Amino acid sequence: MRGATGFDVSVPSGPTSPPPADLASLFECPVCFDYVLPPILQCVNGHLVCAACRLKLLRCPTCRGPLGISAI
Ligand SMILES: [Zn+2]
Ligand SMILES: [Zn+2]
Repeated sequence: MRGATGFDVSVPSGPTSPPPADLASLFECPVCFDYVLPPILQCVNGHLVCAACRLKLLRCPTCRGPLGISAI
């Protein structure tokens, strides 16, 4: 005879990997609030804008400075 209670209280050890916090700090487009994916475009002051919004913008939405041209 084995076990006194027959009640096992072992905690199920699932995947304990924390959520990737780096994803939360990805660059966000200030216009459409979508993630800015490469090729990342910057204004002269380093503000980021996604490629889709870049096509609609003549100036940086943040500082109204001229937007740089991507090096592609
Ligand atoms: Zn955008
Ligand atoms: Zn700017």
